[in-house]
Amino acid sequence: MLKRRVLLRIIVSFLITFLPTVAFLFFIFQRISQHSLIKERDFLYNNLNSLLEHKLKDLELVSALPKPPENKYYIAFRINGNCTGGPYYWLTTDSIYYGKNTSIGNECWFLGVNFVELLEVIRKFNSVEWVILYNRYYVEELPKEFLDRFVKGKIFKDNYVIAGMSKQDVLDVPLDTRGYAVYGKLWNKNLVVEFPLSDRKGFPMGKVLFIKDVSQIYISFYVLMGILSVYSFALSLLSFLLLYLFSENLVNRIVKLQKLSSGIKEGNFSGIELLKTDKPKDELDHLRNNLVDTALTIGRLLSELEEKNRELQELAYYDPLTGLPNRRFFFEHASLIFEEVKRYEKPLSLLVMDIDHFKKINDTYGHDVGDLVLKTFASVLRGIVRKSDICARFGGEEFVVLLPNTELEGAKVLAERIRTAVAKNPVEHGSIVIVFTVSIGISQYRKGMQSIDELIKEADIALYWAKEGGRNRVEVFIPDETVEAQT
Ligand code: GH3
Ligand code: MG
Ligand code: MG
Repeated sequence: MLKRRVLLRIIVSFLITFLPTVAFLFFIFQRISQHSLIKERDFLYNNLNSLLEHKLKDLELVSALPKPPENKYYIAFRINGNCTGGPYYWLTTDSIYYGKNTSIGNECWFLGVNFVELLEVIRKFNSVEWVILYNRYYVEELPKEFLDRFVKGKIFKDNYVIAGMSKQDVLDVPLDTRGYAVYGKLWNKNLVVEFPLSDRKGFPMGKVLFIKDVSQIYISFYVLMGILSVYSFALSLLSFLLLYLFSENLVNRIVKLQKLSSGIKEGNFSGIELLKTDKPKDELDHLRNNLVDTALTIGRLLSELEEKNRELQELAYYDPLTGLPNRRFFFEHASLIFEEVKRYEKPLSLLVMDIDHFKKINDTYGHDVGDLVLKTFASVLRGIVRKSDICARFGGEEFVVLLPNTELEGAKVLAERIRTAVAKNPVEHGSIVIVFTVSIGISQYRKGMQSIDELIKEADIALYWAKEGGRNRVEVFIPDETVEAQT
């Protein structure tokens, strides 16, 4: 999940950085190509201007002999009226001429050079196409012979009459360029440069358009754009790949940490110490080590808690001095057994035992020796009773043994065995040997008994009888009706 989010962000930031870079490159290159176009325009302008200037100088040289040349390259007219003014264009029925007025003697002459020829020179040396656009209203005002030459069968576009290019070529060219313009598709581009023409009175006759193929500028522009875009794409991709690898590593480590913490949450601490790094190299390693340490502490505390719980359980059910089950244990188990006996009418006997003159032992040898006597008695008891019997320390020096499936005879035999065994197991305290004895009362389940308490009560009475009878002996409780029956 985290990985996907990181990847998505990387892709988005990649696009956010890469796209503006390309846009910026495009903008820069467009400015550069515009600059080259303006240079190209200026070049064409200057070329034509210097050619015209040069021709004017040539005309000044021939001004001494104004006669019309045969090849129509030059032209000479006598002008009536004002002879001043700058150079201008002169339209004849043959062609268009560029020149200026010159005074020769008392006469004024227009000396001009064939402008179309000049355009051809420009075309050859600059590899440009040219087209003359005559102002339609200008040529339509001219005398009839001009109309035949300039209007009849000519191409009209907008307000211009076109000379110098086929119809199909001209249709694509934007005529109203206002200085210069570019047309064409993709890299197949043409530059159009405008050059105005005006007559001797300054009326606009039309204009010349130079059309130059500038595909090369655009091709190199696109190629360079492409190369730089690919380069910046590769560069961005590489840096984002590195970023991705780095973040993937981070994400993987975070995922591992998350698994580790889930394991801790579920209480799974096995082998967790192996996840610790000896040389933490960054905050994540520290975090992992801390997590492992925390988990180890929690694990240790949990096992301590378990141990304590077990001890508490033991304390709740076992007597810490003798290790025998305690009164609570006895009642919980004995009640269940008693219920079963009541239901299936099975035999059940109970022994209640009390160490004789125990107070005296305590008083004479001290409490520790008293405890030792209790422990010795418990171990004797443990050695004699069966596993199915429930043996417990009832309190003080009083013990009980519940004997399921045991008739009175069996209980008597067991009680006797205990009594004699106790007498044979004295406690040694230093050089003194302390012989102690036990009195035992026996009771037996009878039909009609409601609880284990009744059985205990009767065994207690039998025990009392045993004490009364001189101690170190076994007595069986005999119910009243039995006594009555015997008498
Ligand atoms: P009897 O023959 O009539 O049973 O005489 P007794 O001295 O045994 O009588 P009693 O039941 O009055 O005495 C029990 C004594 O056991 C009293 C008490 O101080 C002592 N005692 C109870 N629990 C412990 C124990 O855990 N350790 C030791 N050392 N003495 C205990
Ligand atoms: Mg007692
Ligand atoms: Mg006693």
